[in-house]
Amino acid sequence: MLIAHRIALDLNNVQAIYMARAAGTARFAYNWALTEWKSQYEAWKLDSSQPKPTQAALRRQLNSIKRERFPWMLEVTKNAPQMAIIQLGQAFQNFFAGRSKYPQLRKKGVHDRFTLTNDQFNIDGCRMRIPNLGWVRMRESLRFAGKIMSATVSRVAERWFVSITVDAEDDSHLPKAENQGAVGVDLGVSALATLSTGEIITGAKSHKALLTRLQRLSRSFSRKQKGSEKRKKAKGKLAKLHARIAAIRSDALHQLTTSLTRRFHIIGIEDLNVRGMVKNRHLARSIADMGFFELRRQLEYKAAMRGGQVVVADRFYPSSKTCSSCGHKLEELSLSVRQWTCPDCATCHDRDVNAAINLKNMAVSSTVSACGEEGSGRRRKTTVKPASAKQEASSRFSQ
Ligand SMILES: [Zn+2]
Repeated sequence: MLIAHRIALDLNNVQAIYMARAAGTARFAYNWALTEWKSQYEAWKLDSSQPKPTQAALRRQLNSIKRERFPWMLEVTKNAPQMAIIQLGQAFQNFFAGRSKYPQLRKKGVHDRFTLTNDQFNIDGCRMRIPNLGWVRMRESLRFAGKIMSATVSRVAERWFVSITVDAEDDSHLPKAENQGAVGVDLGVSALATLSTGEIITGAKSHKALLTRLQRLSRSFSRKQKGSEKRKKAKGKLAKLHARIAAIRSDALHQLTTSLTRRFHIIGIEDLNVRGMVKNRHLARSIADMGFFELRRQLEYKAAMRGGQVVVADRFYPSSKTCSSCGHKLEELSLSVRQWTCPDCATCHDRDVNAAINLKNMAVSSTVSACGEEGSGRRRKTTVKPASAKQEASSRFSQ
């Protein structure tokens, strides 16, 4: 299974200049190849004896002319232009398969990144080595064991990060879930999540102050004159704050998924595909922003690494409306009702805890009926397969 770990880099000036140059070279190569692709494709349409463009042919073409026409390309790793064109090939593959839009030109300041293959860098604790540049300090060491596949260096609001993709050996390097039991997770309206144990996970509280600052900053940004130096400065500040808020939310989501998979063997969640869209504005900001798919993706890969499993309820499963004590199903339960009493058995329910308990029961019963024994290997149809390694890889490479 391919997983990626993104780590902040501590760069000195020389290193920051190198990274910016390599990212610029990658962007140039990507845009050059995209322009070539379009014109070669047009030529092929007019005359089918002409070759159809491919990323491999474009890489050869660039290699044959770069010494002459773009000698500055040789100042950075040869991976920068090469991997960019491979990524363009993947972008076209995704386009042809209907998975994404037609590839667009990369923009400076937006797509500042380049990718290294595993023969072009080394990792040693909290540092990584790039040929011709030397050792670069990382803020933390690589979290996953396994074969290192590639590294993508990218800039987000003046900070540089490296995202290292690892082919992790499943189950082998993390301890099994502590509590071998099951949990149901109701995703939050006001809280991030409510567990069937009654715990409420609120997520990041601190960013309310940041959101107020964000509002103020964006107002002040829009007042600045276009093209002015002040506007440019305000834009940088705004981007920085956006990145910080995104990081806080991403942390909250990672903490939630790590803690759940560490503590529980079976995790029941609901399918938010449809429901999520309907009540999106009510969802806690972290989930609404990062997306339900991201939450599920994290839960699934983290559970898989500890030998646990995630069971996703059918999207029509009435987790809120069903009494978790007697199974009575209400006709109607409006979103504003936070507590209710079962007309059948008179149990008083907290809306979210009741939903979480139902999800837990659903998860346990579907794993039991699938294999006769709670929590052992095989899954039932209601469970969702982990994202395939390939998908993961291409989404990482194209980020
Ligand atoms: Zn009841």
